[in-house]
Amino acid sequence: MKINTNYQNVSESYLFSTVAKKVSAYTAANPDRKVIKLGIGDVTLPLVPAVISALHGAVDEMSKKETFRGYGPEQGYGFLKDEINGYYARKGVELASDEIFISDGAKSDLGNILDLFDQDNVVLVPDPVYPVYVDTNVMAGRKVVFADANRDNGFLPMPDFNVKADIVYLCSPNNPTGAAYSKEQLKVWVEYALENDAVLLYDAAYECFITDDALAQSIFQIEGAKQCAIEFCSFSKMAGFTGTRCGYTVVPKALKDGLLHKMWLRRQTTKFNGVPYIVQRGAAAVFTEEGQAQIRANLAVYQENAKLIASTMDELGIWYTGGQNSPYIWFRCPGFDSSWDFFDYLLEQANVVGTPGCGFGKNGEGYFRLTAFNTPEATKEACDRIKALFKK
Ligand SMILES: *Cc1c(COP(=O)(O)O)cnc(C)c1O
Repeated sequence: MKINTNYQNVSESYLFSTVAKKVSAYTAANPDRKVIKLGIGDVTLPLVPAVISALHGAVDEMSKKETFRGYGPEQGYGFLKDEINGYYARKGVELASDEIFISDGAKSDLGNILDLFDQDNVVLVPDPVYPVYVDTNVMAGRKVVFADANRDNGFLPMPDFNVKADIVYLCSPNNPTGAAYSKEQLKVWVEYALENDAVLLYDAAYECFITDDALAQSIFQIEGAKQCAIEFCSFSKMAGFTGTRCGYTVVPKALKDGLLHKMWLRRQTTKFNGVPYIVQRGAAAVFTEEGQAQIRANLAVYQENAKLIASTMDELGIWYTGGQNSPYIWFRCPGFDSSWDFFDYLLEQANVVGTPGCGFGKNGEGYFRLTAFNTPEATKEACDRIKALFKK
């Protein structure tokens, strides 16, 4: 047998393991210090009561012969797809329920979707970026080119019509930068994709953090997007499903005259046997009135934390993106050109942990990511320490 040698080209990521090593070395040497972690992109609040009660109800159904479920539809149960369809309708996006595919999360789908595309495609990825987009393409031997995100474009690169790409990744609101595209900006990306016969792979995992109407909550709010885009979304950040696992992908039938929809259905029914019934019942409860009120209350905690971190940056005159419409704050390291040097300084002087920007791509060097996924108390304490450290 011959192995897929493309795996040798995937760069090792030492980002989070190095962060963990540095933090444990520091706490071992300084056991009296209280270290605050604003580093990892994982939610911290538990599932809301409406979801828990739906999960319990579904577990009970599985215990009785009359209501037990075996294999379900690979592409998800109708009850959940209809709820998601209603959610899109409230954003002004009209879909057919069978354009929505339920999965165990956005990360799997973002990797799996590549089954539909030839190896001989040019992939355009912003830098800095969520590493999954790059690594999954390198594993398949595809050529990746980068669009520079930087301070000049507010970490929101726009298309260069002279660069020909076939597959384009956009993530808005962005991880790691927290920056979010306006509808006007996305219109230009849609024009680019239509003109180049390219497909936009749009990661909307953080759409639930958007409060500003000028920003898009879905690529399908942009005219023409159904002809050129696939959207990936997830219950992970919206409703705390990072450990429960449920996401969804929208493949419009208007894309390539229905060909990609048909291929994705074929791919999923062949290689996937669906998300657990119990989990889909939990996810559907997110859309009840009670569920919406409860997840909104949780999101508001993260949003307040993000606002507090952003206002700390404002106060200190530090340049940043995100904070509004996103759980991430991405800022220029004050007084440091190296993200890792700044990481060490912040850990040692303020006992605050964040993520070095250089771990997300070369344009991240000199930048740093803090997340809103902690308690209001810990976030305030971290902000107070940062203020004390950098106030002139
Ligand atoms: C967290 C996150 C996701 C969600 O992934 P799941 O597999 O659904 O948990 C997707 N994209 C980005 C950029 C993320 O940060």
